[in-house]
Amino acid sequence: MSAQIIYGDQLAQSLREDMKQEVKKLKNKGVVPKLVVILIGDDPASKSYVSGKQKAADFIGIDSELITLPSSTSETELLKLINDLNHSKGVNGILVQLPLPEHINEQHIIEAINPDKDVDGFHPISIGRLLTNQDTFLPCTPLGILTMLKSKNIEIAGKHVVVVGRSNIVGKPVGQLLLNEHATVTYCHSKTKDMSLYTKTADILIVAVGQAGFITSEHIKEGATVIDVGVNRIEDGSLTGDVNFEQVKEKAAYLTPVPKGVGPMTITMLMKNTIKAAIAQTK
Ligand code: NDP
Repeated sequence: MSAQIIYGDQLAQSLREDMKQEVKKLKNKGVVPKLVVILIGDDPASKSYVSGKQKAADFIGIDSELITLPSSTSETELLKLINDLNHSKGVNGILVQLPLPEHINEQHIIEAINPDKDVDGFHPISIGRLLTNQDTFLPCTPLGILTMLKSKNIEIAGKHVVVVGRSNIVGKPVGQLLLNEHATVTYCHSKTKDMSLYTKTADILIVAVGQAGFITSEHIKEGATVIDVGVNRIEDGSLTGDVNFEQVKEKAAYLTPVPKGVGPMTITMLMKNTIKAAIAQTK
């Protein structure tokens, strides 16, 4: 058996076309969704993520402003900027590109963003709403993964989902989101003993570790759905996932590639959240 590949880039493109139409209609009603992205320092990976976000916004017709600040920016200066943006009527969504320089406390920054403009879905209020299954801004990568699963009508309710990785931005929220969809969820992390005991029973395996080729065919059961979140740069300069694609594709029923998998969906969900914010703020 060879897995059906879920191409996130294709799905993302078709969703972006739909969003473009939606934004056109909003503009006719005088609503122009606006996203402000703050980039501190000159980390090449962060720069490339931010440019992907801007390209998507431009395509859809979302007004996106990039504020670049030097890595010497103080926490107080950044908090002041966020406070100004929180109060700026024309700004619907605020995103601070992570990671931040070490002298800035990430949690202080995340908590300073007005939850109504928290399009990344990282604010504790957004996370609390996710936990209690209320309407909220869902974190973009988990929402992208859910959208990919739904696009292939992959059953979630009653299925065993195993999430490898428990970060606040991917692992924990994706497990919670799929729990809300009635999956039975198991988390694995660096202290898990005999990880393959769990991964081998997964109907849906989601891997967000950050180690190239970490999951092999030995870790999965025949016919599983495998979602590869990892983005790792290898020696030849190319990007690869956390899953050994060539091996796992012979055993899985569905598999996401890297690149062209979860990444483009993450960006697209940021756009979705920005449009949601604009609509909510004009009500
Ligand atoms: P973190 O580094 O924050 O988390 C990694 C997780 O992997 C931790 O929970 C860690 O466990 C776990 N882990 C590490 N080693 C092992 C091990 N040997 N066995 C089991 N679990 C282990 O990463 P992120 O969640 O932020 O990102 C993960 C990957 O996804 C990265 O490659 C990142 O670049 C990518 N990513 C991709 C996105 C996309 O849109 N495609 C978006 C965000 C991230 P512990 O908690 O015990 O330390």
